[in-house]
Amino acid sequence: MAHTSAAEPPDEGARSDHFRVRIEGFGVGTWDLDLLTHELQWSEVTRSLFGVPRDQAVTYERFLSLLRPADRGRVEQAIRQAAEKGGAFDVSFRIGGSTGRGQWIRARAGVIRDESGASRHLSGIILDIDQEKQVEEALRTSESHMRSILETVPDAMIVIDGHGMIQLFSSAAERLFGYSEQEAIGQNVSILMPEPDRTRHDDYVARYRSTGERHIIGIGRIVTGKRRDETTFPMHLSIGEMQSGGVPYFTGFVRDLTEHQQTQARLQELQSELVHVSRLSAMGEMASALAHELNQPLAAISNYMKGSRRLLAGITDPNTPKIESAMDRAAEQAIRAGQIIRRLRDFVARGESEKRVESLSKLIEEAGALGLAGAREQNVQLRFSLNPNADLVLADRVQIQQVMVNLFRNALEAMTQSPRRELVVSNTKDHDEMIEVQVSDTGSGFQDDVLPNLFQTFFTTKETGMGVGLSISRSIIEAHGGRMWAESNASGGATFRFTLPPATGES
Ligand code: ADP
Repeated sequence: MAHTSAAEPPDEGARSDHFRVRIEGFGVGTWDLDLLTHELQWSEVTRSLFGVPRDQAVTYERFLSLLRPADRGRVEQAIRQAAEKGGAFDVSFRIGGSTGRGQWIRARAGVIRDESGASRHLSGIILDIDQEKQVEEALRTSESHMRSILETVPDAMIVIDGHGMIQLFSSAAERLFGYSEQEAIGQNVSILMPEPDRTRHDDYVARYRSTGERHIIGIGRIVTGKRRDETTFPMHLSIGEMQSGGVPYFTGFVRDLTEHQQTQARLQELQSELVHVSRLSAMGEMASALAHELNQPLAAISNYMKGSRRLLAGITDPNTPKIESAMDRAAEQAIRAGQIIRRLRDFVARGESEKRVESLSKLIEEAGALGLAGAREQNVQLRFSLNPNADLVLADRVQIQQVMVNLFRNALEAMTQSPRRELVVSNTKDHDEMIEVQVSDTGSGFQDDVLPNLFQTFFTTKETGMGVGLSISRSIIEAHGGRMWAESNASGGATFRFTLPPATGES
């Protein structure tokens, strides 16, 4: 389209002056650079932005010297390029000394050509963009903070929009679900869920958006996640909500519970093994106590029978043979009763003892998890002072854990009234080259006649005690070829010690 204004209005110069005054009033400076002579003209505002007083001359060199050295090359290059190729000139740079933050300025200009079409001037405006740059900088900083958080938090983090589309996928999420960030972004978050959640998820989101009815937001729950390879795993999910530019976004934090559940399962397994073995050994202990107690009456019965039979020999009664045979059977039964009890005792005592090379520290740690649950709430200080040079023993893991759990529980019970509650477990190599384990507490210690009776079956000072724990423990330790005993601590409290054979090279 042709240029229609036939003539310039007469007051053109005055109007452009007005215009210049108006934009200067808004803090916009103007400038003009003669591309041939490098003569530079600055308006008032431009001078004040660059901090050059009115009485000082403005030259191209002066201008360059005011720029941050790091930015000079870039500005000169842009000016050269505008002069040669024309087009828009738009550069941002910092002024002020080489140290410090430096104030940000933006210069925009266009090329003015002479009649021959050659570039003559670069003429334009100067803006103070320091504030924008600061905001930008702050944004960039907070974004890089955010990035570094995203890369390091162990919980996976996923942001979705109101349609369930993934907007952000943290490094932990990449590791957990097996999708890369690029693959995940833009996909529906339901790819991370197994059925039936997978098909229902869009409805969940839509329902929440229309009714505000919360199922999981702000609450957190255990759900099932699905990895890229279609395998599933238990996870804890908590969701936060935010609005940005009037649009909702949801942030999910995911914690993998696989390991947690494995630990729980392992603890449960250990616990049930222990319960089983404890029952067996309690039975064994009772059987042997019973066998011991019943042996005498059974022997007496059998002796009385023999005596009575001898007396019968002198009597002539038609029933004598029958009575004799009945007495013989009664005697046999008494002996059988004794054998049954002995066999039961042997059977239980033999148990299924499986001696293997075991690490004491691992045994103790597991037993601690089992026996000391709740110890922290009771304010009990636990100290494992384990010597790695006396670590490997030849032992039946479950049985030795039973011994330790029993010692730990007794110690906790003995400390319920103590002002100071400390439980220390340590191990040493004793002079017989056996490995000794010490469990020492700051509890009530032993009253008068307790110490000599401690290990007797059915000895207890507790109202609801069974009094079999320590006697079983000692049997177990002795079956391992070790010894078990107890001592009073000088400062009150008790120390129980037992020894186990070390695992030697051949074992
Ligand atoms: P129970 O715990 O059922 O009584 P135990 O055989 O385990 O059976 O313990 C027998 C007794 O030994 C307890 O009743 C208690 O008097 C004493 N005892 C055990 N451990 C300790 C301890 N750490 N401190 C003080 N007394 C203890």
